[in-house]
Amino acid sequence: MSRMTHSRSPIEIGRRGLMLILSSPSGAGKTTLTRMLLQDKDVDLTLSVSVTTRERRSSEVDGIHYHFISRQDFERRRADGDFLEWAEVHGNYYGSPRSLVEKVLTQGRDVLFDIDYQGTRQVRQTAPEDVVTIFILPPSMKELQARLERRAEDSADTIAKRLANSRNEIQRWAEYDYVLVNDDLQHTYLQVMTILKGERLRRPRAQNAVTEFVKKLLAE
Ligand code: ADP
Ligand code: 5GP
Repeated sequence: MSRMTHSRSPIEIGRRGLMLILSSPSGAGKTTLTRMLLQDKDVDLTLSVSVTTRERRSSEVDGIHYHFISRQDFERRRADGDFLEWAEVHGNYYGSPRSLVEKVLTQGRDVLFDIDYQGTRQVRQTAPEDVVTIFILPPSMKELQARLERRAEDSADTIAKRLANSRNEIQRWAEYDYVLVNDDLQHTYLQVMTILKGERLRRPRAQNAVTEFVKKLLAE
């Protein structure tokens, strides 16, 4: 059988951008997966960089991992309606600036969020059709604790607080479209990529473009 060859690029049907949300208890691996997605040149995802009142970790860069601001500034921006969603998590405020998300989606491109279940609920309400949610579970509670300790960027107190909160967070799994157990990192990453590729192809995202395409097709 001869191989099919194309002398030009295949026809691509345009679509609306989607919002991919990763959530998990602290330490399950969503920051690591986020970094892998952003480093992959074939993926074209834009990270929604959150604003937070929590203290910066030594490995974090202001403006790249978070925008670090005071509680007072956070409250002012919240009152101004700057956030698509916001929540208090582990005693700190976190929020997703609205402007970047709207800009990227208008270009028909996709936005990646690393936010908790409270924020996920709010984003889903704004545009249920355009949101894809993934919940990441640790393989065991023992491994979750080991990962938090290995990361070695939080105090013992902070780690204890996050572990205690993780039981509440884990119970939110059923609110998500997909649930993955992050045991082997490469395996989990491939699962995330599979979800993203499939979700990008879903018909409702391309409704207008397909309507146009079919109209022309049937006019032939
Ligand atoms: P989160 O963002 O969910 O709080 P991180 O991505 O910071 O979690 O991961 C916590 C720690 O666990 C990091 O040190 C990271 O390198 C490690 N880690 C992440 N995924 C895995 C995995 N599948 N196997 C082993 N270690 C992992
Ligand atoms: P961390 O302090 O470990 O970076 O994040 C703590 C928790 O806050 C994580 O569950 C993370 O997903 C969540 N988070 C980070 N940014 C936001 C945000 O903008 N909104 C909401 N709702 N949660 C966030």
